[in-house]
Amino acid sequence: MSDWGSVYKSLGATPVINATGSVTLLGGSTLAEEVKDAMEAADSAYIPLSELEQFAGQRIADLLDVPAAYITSGAGSALTLGTAAFMAGIDDKKIEQLPDTRGMPNEILIQKRQRYWYDRCLEFAGGKLVEFGDDSGTSVGDLESAISDQTAVIAYPVDERNPVDPNILSLEQVIEFSHEKNKPVMVDAAGQIYPLENFGKYVRMGADFQCIAAKYMGAPHSTGFALGTSEVIEAIARNSFVGYETRRIRGIGRPQKVDRQEIIGVVSAVERWVSLNHESRLAYAERQSTSIIEHLVNIPGVSVELNTNIVGHQPFGVFIDIDEGIVGLSNEDLVASLKQQDPSIWTRVPAGDTRIVLHVFGLSKGQEEIVGKTIRKLITER
Ligand SMILES: *Cc1c(COP(=O)(O)O)cnc(C)c1O
Repeated sequence: MSDWGSVYKSLGATPVINATGSVTLLGGSTLAEEVKDAMEAADSAYIPLSELEQFAGQRIADLLDVPAAYITSGAGSALTLGTAAFMAGIDDKKIEQLPDTRGMPNEILIQKRQRYWYDRCLEFAGGKLVEFGDDSGTSVGDLESAISDQTAVIAYPVDERNPVDPNILSLEQVIEFSHEKNKPVMVDAAGQIYPLENFGKYVRMGADFQCIAAKYMGAPHSTGFALGTSEVIEAIARNSFVGYETRRIRGIGRPQKVDRQEIIGVVSAVERWVSLNHESRLAYAERQSTSIIEHLVNIPGVSVELNTNIVGHQPFGVFIDIDEGIVGLSNEDLVASLKQQDPSIWTRVPAGDTRIVLHVFGLSKGQEEIVGKTIRKLITER
């Protein structure tokens, strides 16, 4: 630990302890050892990336029991390439025309209540988000009247950590109705990697496409992948940087490239994830969380609770809620002072919550002690 963050310090930048979780603003992942080794091995030779993408995608598809897969520069790029695939398909003229969508279906339908932070990625290829339903909910009739010749795809984000929204159309309903109308469905399932039966589930259910963010499973933060039908994945490949260089068809995917080390890293991360001892992964996250809690019990005005969620990519964690009237410090104040410490500790009160939602995903071994002690000190030694 003596050289913790020294590579950053030598630049004059300040490394931080990440108690926020897998967030892009801090660098969303730490490479698993197996992934690091595989990436290093990838350095030993060059390889045509079109071929590597194909074989790597097939390995992932086989592991997840879906028809096809394609590794991208993050789930965000998978979403963008997915929309390009649904608009331009494998028509080289159209691929080169994007983001100008004249002559192509360019509407990406999404339920109003499902609008979310990453939906901007659905527009970068030139598509246009079109909402259906309203703030109170969606009916099948809303979907029916939204679908037209201009519809490229129906987008559907899922987050299985949250209870199902009873006011919107379920994914099953959307798939069934859209397919009746011969329209494809794309699912943002970036974090749906645990329980393992959820990993790839949406394509197995009949969605034409889903993405996964590999940042959530020990691969480079900059990687992700698309899963889908062979037809959709082929169209994604043609719209991607590989299509641009191998086929000399200048699609919009060119700036979203991945390197061979990253591709091998993602394959290794998926292989690791499907064979990992998840019980011990979960047990470790729970231990880190409870050891933070142990520092914070029995402080007047501080309520602290174990987050028991194990669905998705960052299990357990701690909810902290301070009574400002008693402690003289609000949750936001504590978040701000933690950042001022040496070492700086980052956590947050996420949008839509009033508590501090601390995650152990980004804590290396032993950092939970620093986090617990520092929070206790800031609250009690005032
Ligand atoms: C992280 C995330 C993304 C973006 O993934 P990147 O790999 O960072 O591009 C998209 N959708 C959801 C739901 C995510 O959690």
